[in-house]
Amino acid sequence: MAHSSGYKQDKSKSATQNACGDDGLAVPLHPVYQFKGRGANLHIAHRFSKDEREVYDDGWQEAESEDERLAPPVTTVRYEQSKSAIFYNDSPDIPFDRSINPYRGCEHGCIYCYARPYHAYLDLSPGLDFETQIIARGNIAELFRKELARPKYAENVQPIALGSMTDCYQPMERKLKLTRQIIEVLHETQHPFFLITRGSAVERDLDLIAPMAKAKLAEVCVTITTLDRHLARIMEPRAPTPQRRLQTVAALAQAGVPVSVSIAPQIPFLNDDMEQVIQAAAQAGATSAFYTILRLSWELKPLFESWLQQHYPERAQRIMDRIRDLRGGKTNDSRFGVRMHAEGIWADLIRQRFYKALRQHGMNLTSAGLDTTRFQPPVWVQKTAQMPSRHDVFQPDLFE
Ligand code: SF4
Repeated sequence: MAHSSGYKQDKSKSATQNACGDDGLAVPLHPVYQFKGRGANLHIAHRFSKDEREVYDDGWQEAESEDERLAPPVTTVRYEQSKSAIFYNDSPDIPFDRSINPYRGCEHGCIYCYARPYHAYLDLSPGLDFETQIIARGNIAELFRKELARPKYAENVQPIALGSMTDCYQPMERKLKLTRQIIEVLHETQHPFFLITRGSAVERDLDLIAPMAKAKLAEVCVTITTLDRHLARIMEPRAPTPQRRLQTVAALAQAGVPVSVSIAPQIPFLNDDMEQVIQAAAQAGATSAFYTILRLSWELKPLFESWLQQHYPERAQRIMDRIRDLRGGKTNDSRFGVRMHAEGIWADLIRQRFYKALRQHGMNLTSAGLDTTRFQPPVWVQKTAQMPSRHDVFQPDLFE
């Protein structure tokens, strides 16, 4: 098999067709090759790209050592000067109307991540770029404060979701502390919020989150898709282990924070231990849970198929067939009402299993609710301090 890759322009074939083409089990355009500690194994072209990569053997491959070939691409972080902090939505099947996300891209690198296709808007690949080229919204806390200070904001305060798009406690948060800066603003203004994460670094901010939880201003959701360490290792390569995430659930619960567990996404014939996850989360102190069923939008489909072929070739066809069974013959169905939980007999079966497990462990579907009446608008004064340039790029040192 050829391992080297060359680069050529091919405008006769659209990148969209290559990345998201027909619904058969695609043979990847690139060699299936796993980088250590990374989820995607493709630098897949995104749907807006006019260029694509073509694999060919240039004869150099044999000269490379095994270590060189397995060396994972490094993570880089680039600062962005955002124009707004709060993102509003009116989707009828999302339980919040506003959210805030300090990062674009996510180093956790979950292969099924629904945020991957959004990296295409940055002219970056939803494959490896998504998990190696992270955009940090360096001015987000200041912008957030400015938006909360607008007189109109106080007329309709609702809980805000933190980290609903990409993980707000992904590895570089330990160094950059953008999420902590946002929580400091939330704390100061007594603004209700809930956050969702796979990251154990949320424990660092318990000094702010716990008192807010006590005042019904904060809730946390920890995502645990499986208890299978091997599966989690390859499916969510840079997220904490499932057992470590259970410790985070316990730490939050012991600090008095209402904790829910997300077992999303459910992937047929892959993470079939939903009941065990709910049981373990309940024992750790989680009081509510929710799930979604995998859907494969845009570039996610070829990325996921390629990953399946590499790690579970004997099950790949069965998994893809069942995903289609859940979505009326397609791998994606974005209609409100069915996009989260799919439809048909297999979707009903998952739903029944989920509710039965919830009942068995005395868990709820929703949390107790947050207090929206305590909000105090902040004082906002324009800062003149020099923010990092959008061209500032650095490689985080995870061992600092
Ligand atoms: S932790 Fe969340 S945002 Fe990050 S890659 Fe996984 S699913 Fe995507």
